Amino acid sequence: MVDGPTHSSWLIAGARLCEDLETGRLSEPVDVRLAGGRIVELTPAAGGRSADDAQVVDATGLLLSPGLVNSHFHSTGTFNRAFVANLPLELFMLYELPPFDFGPFPPELYRSQVLWATSQMLKVGVTSVFDDAMFYPEPSDEAVAGLMGAYRDSGIRATVAVYLPNKVEYEWIPGLKELLPADVVARMDECVPSVDELVGFYERFVRRWHGEEGGRLRCALSCSAPQRATDEYILRLHEISEELDLPFVFHVYETKLQRVAADAFYGTSMIRHLRELGVLCERSVIVHAVWVDESDIADIADAGAIVVHSPSGNLRCGSGVMPYRQLRDAGVPVALCSDEATVEDRCNLWQVGRLAGMLHTIGDPDHRTWPRAEEIVDAMTETGGRCLRVDGLGTIRVGAPADLILLDLDLVLDTPIAKLANALVYGEHGSSVRAVFVDGRLVAQDGRLTTIDEGQLRRDLDRWSRHWAEAVEPVERWAARLAPAYDEIYARCARTDVGINRWAGNEGSWLGRAAP
Ligand SMILES: [Zn+2]
Repeated sequence: MVDGPTHSSWLIAGARLCEDLETGRLSEPVDVRLAGGRIVELTPAAGGRSADDAQVVDATGLLLSPGLVNSHFHSTGTFNRAFVANLPLELFMLYELPPFDFGPFPPELYRSQVLWATSQMLKVGVTSVFDDAMFYPEPSDEAVAGLMGAYRDSGIRATVAVYLPNKVEYEWIPGLKELLPADVVARMDECVPSVDELVGFYERFVRRWHGEEGGRLRCALSCSAPQRATDEYILRLHEISEELDLPFVFHVYETKLQRVAADAFYGTSMIRHLRELGVLCERSVIVHAVWVDESDIADIADAGAIVVHSPSGNLRCGSGVMPYRQLRDAGVPVALCSDEATVEDRCNLWQVGRLAGMLHTIGDPDHRTWPRAEEIVDAMTETGGRCLRVDGLGTIRVGAPADLILLDLDLVLDTPIAKLANALVYGEHGSSVRAVFVDGRLVAQDGRLTTIDEGQLRRDLDRWSRHWAEAVEPVERWAARLAPAYDEIYARCARTDVGINRWAGNEGSWLGRAAP
């Protein structure tokens, strides 16, 4: 179809656009010009003639769509893919973020994880990702450079936060300290960095990387979650977020245990606590929001914050079902994410969209509350763009970033009366994607990447396999030792009545029941 992938000026000739997702009405064929990383012209098709030196893509029979936006991801969990069993989050995290004896790892390892994940995403048309990267045991500038350099080279658009809590687990998991062996408590106490150190790291990170590659790489803030961070630290990160207009990520109410914890430690809701601190705002990215109640939803809506829905993560960790329609009815924008590869193995946002479209039918017999396919498409594109705070991202209009995908319309629709939004949400896995542009550059074509050497990546992954297997040995030992304490608290919290239920099934069989 085309050659010269690095060409910076393109004419996509004769593509069809979706004019109305609800009816699936398509435009007449159009020509779309890309230059300087943006869409610069949209005109009726004129036979594929280029007036300048632009490379021409013949898009006859192809649908031009905004690239997909994966609004939450942890690239640094990639090598635990297909390794950890489905477990409640607090037990799962013993593998994900082990307390001790894990790392440090070389920058090249972080690089390989990003290249593997972005290769999965780009091939199916995910053109932007919001990474909340964890580093073990703490981030170094070199390890961060390994990760950010991989995003630069992969060609994907990336917003990256570094996941940096500053409280030890027993400070926010109710009752944990009493159940942990004394030597574990003492070791946890040794691991707490000062607020100045963490803020200093963030300032260097943002100075070095924010806006790199003409703005394709951006930075964001993350303290992991409100309960895992001190108020002083949250306020300091909020200042950086405000000064540079950066998103600030909070995992909030992913699990019921966190609701019990907020009641115990704050005496109020975690969302209300963020509001009272003055940090809940339009830059806040609230990931999960499963166990939010009505007043939380009102607070999120008032603040103009965005919620990121992680159906795969919530299902794999048994966290419950996010109150999708209540959030949308309150006016809260909801974006979608694959979360990490431990919960969505191929980082495939199409699969996530399909899950999101179906998950909410199990909790409510009122079919009018169920997500519509066109809402899911919007969550994967335009609302994702808002989450990353990149103007026009996820849309097709003059001036918007040239992050676009071409899909084979015959393959997408396939049967006689298929509707486009339904076909995209329930029938597409990325196999109809013919070409992928990010920032006006062709990064994938017919399933092959122009930016990543997949043969080299395969050899690198083989090289890491023994290294990683050795690295997780102590993790498994610690998990075996600590799991009984975490499991006991998990069960205790599951049995606590918090006034709402987010499980579709039989919470009632646990409520009030004594531990076995
Ligand atoms: Zn997360």
